[in-house]
Parts: sequence; C-alpha cells; structure tokens
Amino acid sequence: MTWVGWLVFQSPDTQAWQNDYLQGTGCEMYTETLSPSFTGMTFPQASELCFTKLKLLLLAIEIKGEGGADSKISINPRGAKIAANTQGFFIAQSADEVKRAWFYCKACHEDIKDETLIKKCKCKNCKLFYSIK
Ligand SMILES: [Zn+2]
Repeated sequence: MTWVGWLVFQSPDTQAWQNDYLQGTGCEMYTETLSPSFTGMTFPQASELCFTKLKLLLLAIEIKGEGGADSKISINPRGAKIAANTQGFFIAQSADEVKRAWFYCKACHEDIKDETLIKKCKCKNCKLFYSIK
C-alpha cells in the first residue's frame, strides 16, 4: 500500500465500506485529474458518481492552498467543492481505469451504463479542454 493508501486507511473519516473495499480488492492507489464535469460538485457527489458510474473509488482530493500555501490531501472532505483541475486519489485496478475520471464528460457519458465505454469524447467543450492539457 502506498503512503496515501495508508493515510486513508488510518483516517477516522474513512467509511467502513471503503475500508472493506480497500482490504478486499488488492487494488492500488492512483491519482488522476478530475474532468471538468466534476467541477462544482461536492466531494460526496463526486465520490458517488465515481463509484456508481466509473467504478472507481475516490477517496481523497488535493486541496490547493490559498495564497501560495502548500496543497494538502484531504480525505473524504464532506463539505469540499471540487475546483477545476483537482487531483483525485483513487483506488483502482489499473492506471487505465482511473483515466475515466479524466475522460468523464457529463454531456456525452451521462447515459452510459458500461463504464468501459467512457473514453475521450468528441464534443466541442471537451475538445477545447483537452487541447489545453
Ligand atoms: Zn463530451
């Protein structure tokens, strides 16, 4: 387990089902930038969307410090809103799976039931966005 994994594991805020998941799967911790579709969601909303739609467990996010302060990893920050280009910390089987969090587009993927179909989409908004990264 990575140090972030350990941190999450030790956190009193980590919910029981998340701990079970951590222990049960042998998955690893990955980081990925959350797509623009997550911006403005609360952490619980984003986490639920990741779990139900993307089949990813979002455990923590990076909160950027204000006024040049260091950013910190915030585990299960219930009240936090997702800012643009937030780094998420995920439990998943592979780095490829975690890319779904980056590719997820509300306009294109909202009705998709099979998470393996969530790939880089071709809509106008996304094209603009992906060309920046
Ligand atoms: Zn799209």
